[in-house]
Amino acid sequence: MPDALTIALSKGRILEQTLPLLKPLGIEPLEDPSATRNLVLPTSHPSIRLIIVRATDVPTYVAHGGADLGVAGKDVLLEQGGQGLYEPIDLGIARCRLMVAGCPGVELGGRRIRVATKFVNITRRHFAAQGRQVDLIKLYGSMELAPLVGLADVIVDLVDTGNTLRANGLEPLEHIADISSRLVVNKASMKLRHREIKPLLKQIEATVSGPG
Ligand code: AMP
Repeated sequence: MPDALTIALSKGRILEQTLPLLKPLGIEPLEDPSATRNLVLPTSHPSIRLIIVRATDVPTYVAHGGADLGVAGKDVLLEQGGQGLYEPIDLGIARCRLMVAGCPGVELGGRRIRVATKFVNITRRHFAAQGRQVDLIKLYGSMELAPLVGLADVIVDLVDTGNTLRANGLEPLEHIADISSRLVVNKASMKLRHREIKPLLKQIEATVSGPG
């Protein structure tokens, strides 16, 4: 399938919640993505294939033409800037919130605070908009631990049910952004393969907005 239209997805929430949106369009992987080690997956649609990449790499693959389309979290797009991409559809999946969180009663006023997060660009912008300079500590996971061991005063992380924060004795302090996954499209593909991509976008949009 040298000319197959390529859609980049990441394993986990995005894959699980995107496949039901593609199924009504006749796009189903021929192998179970969670059971295979293959990273290129042909689908039941003869000219569409899926590639499986890390969530933070989806914008890179799509922007540089390694994939024509992709599904990326708004958190990833805000953090990386989303250059070189169209972002035509909010798929409304993998919803959560990006929050500042910390120990109950933590006092943040009047001093320079340390913030642990993997979203350093979003965090810098958020506090700069409040006129605050913060010390950023870049982490790659388990952010909730940082305030508990004195590594940081607060964290910036994704919150869905709030269970992870609660389980670690933390509470949400400030809301930064509502997050959901977006369909992203390579700019050149949108022009050159418009006849294939346009109907796909229309169908996905119709599926996302539902029968009503
Ligand atoms: P929860 O305990 O339901 O609030 O989920 C919080 C944990 O799940 C945190 O570790 C988040 O990083 C992660 N998480 C929640 N929602 C998402 C999402 N939509 N995308 C990626 N990670 C998420």
